[in-house]
Amino acid sequence: MNTKKIVVLPGDGIGVEVTREAVSTMKAAGEEHGFTFETEEYQIGGAGIDSYGKPINEEILTACKNADAVLLGAVGGPKWDNVPDEIRPESALLSLRKELGLFTNLRPVKVYEALSDASSLKKEIVSGIDILVVRELTGGIYFGKPRKTEKTSDGERAVDTMTYSTSEVERIAKVAFEAAQNRSKKVTSVDKANILAVSRLWRKTVERVAQDFSGINLEHMLVDNCAMQLVRYPKQFDVILTGNMFGDILSDEAAMLTGSIGMLPSASLGDGTAMYEPVHGTAPDIAGQGKANPLAAIASVAMMFRFSFGAEEAAGAIEQSIEDTLNAGYRTLDLAAKGTQTVSTSEMGDQIRKRMKESNKETSRRMTDV
Ligand code: NAD
Repeated sequence: MNTKKIVVLPGDGIGVEVTREAVSTMKAAGEEHGFTFETEEYQIGGAGIDSYGKPINEEILTACKNADAVLLGAVGGPKWDNVPDEIRPESALLSLRKELGLFTNLRPVKVYEALSDASSLKKEIVSGIDILVVRELTGGIYFGKPRKTEKTSDGERAVDTMTYSTSEVERIAKVAFEAAQNRSKKVTSVDKANILAVSRLWRKTVERVAQDFSGINLEHMLVDNCAMQLVRYPKQFDVILTGNMFGDILSDEAAMLTGSIGMLPSASLGDGTAMYEPVHGTAPDIAGQGKANPLAAIASVAMMFRFSFGAEEAAGAIEQSIEDTLNAGYRTLDLAAKGTQTVSTSEMGDQIRKRMKESNKETSRRMTDV
């Protein structure tokens, strides 16, 4: 048995509910595919503020660094909207990304055939979409200094700083080009080069990195145009390469192509421990009601098997169970439609695990027959 140490950080709101299903699915997939897991769970975000006065602490960051992978839910909520800036729940995410060196955020946007009617866009626009958003995660305006709010004679003034260096752009561009080599070989680099000096450096650097990758079609697109093209003709995209803030916004927009933000998983990778989390937030409007869609969190576990453990079979089995469960007509409330069966968060998790077990049994039976 291959034993892996996983740090579980459920966070707040629906983060707790979807992570519960993700962990159960991880263990179930492990049983079928030769992995056991030692899990350590910690409170972060608002839960951290409530329990030890901060969104995250050194002990937890060290545990994450020593783990084989980190599984995270989501953090934040109205209860902590007015805490001082330095202990905002979201700063737990920024600390984790910085401390673990997670400069790459992969966000696959895939439209399952069973959900091609679920998007607010027409079926023919979204059907078959398979986009990979490669977002830079430890630079740009979310990390630049100075960052402050100061008093002025007529009120207050706030400053954030957008900054990227050549090396930061180079390493994320390489990730995008490498990913494109195994896909449709097209990279769309998204910036705001008509206005921002940072974007002009971004564009120049991406072009230089592209020269090391033959056969890749590179195009540049301004972020405002990209926001429009994503809803006009999303099938033109294969890999979207972009900075921290643009990637944050565009991937939420892209989520709606899939029918619900509850469908979008993500992997944050760097040089050390990787972190896996759904793209969505804590959804305070539905938290604690068993309505949350756990599929983004469960699909994040599939990415964990693939990228952290090289276990493609386990990853594929989870993804196949998601597809089979959707094909069988099960939906959480965010995707409920005529002719489908609405299930709770935990019932959706049960359906995924049940199908994964059945299909593994079927595969073993076929192999024994042979
Ligand atoms: P959100 O993603 O939490 O919710 C947006 C909308 O999508 C809501 O209507 C919600 O009900 C719905 N939704 C989200 N995930 C869902 C799921 N799995 N199943 C069904 N419906 C789902 O974004 P928001 O409302 O802008 O933010 C709420 C809180 O979450 C804020 O405090 C914000 O800071 C935080 N947040 C955290 C993260 C993170 O931890 N990575 C990301 C985004 C937002």
